Amino acid sequence: MSDVFDNKDDNESKFVLTENLIEKGNEGDISSSVYEMFRNDSEKRIRDKVKPEFHEDFDGIHCVECGDEIPEGRLALQKVKCVFCQEAFEKIEKMYNKNS
Ligand SMILES: [Zn+2]
Repeated sequence: MSDVFDNKDDNESKFVLTENLIEKGNEGDISSSVYEMFRNDSEKRIRDKVKPEFHEDFDGIHCVECGDEIPEGRLALQKVKCVFCQEAFEKIEKMYNKNS
């Protein structure tokens, strides 16, 4: 059980946690705690997504990873990576968090 709580941000662990809650069978508590868990997660994700980014090599137009032009919508949010590189970065970050 403690492993589950150590990895609260991991979707897999969250799934296990959800299953454990369901097995315990207190339905009123399940729905509210699962709801809280996903609500907190999405708020954090939204905050991370709109957070401005900085990179010393960023020229204001091109992705710092692959050099492709960043879409205007992302530039407006002060992002320094294109969508593709951002997704790759998030996957790697997730893997790293899982192993640490
Ligand atoms: Zn890129």
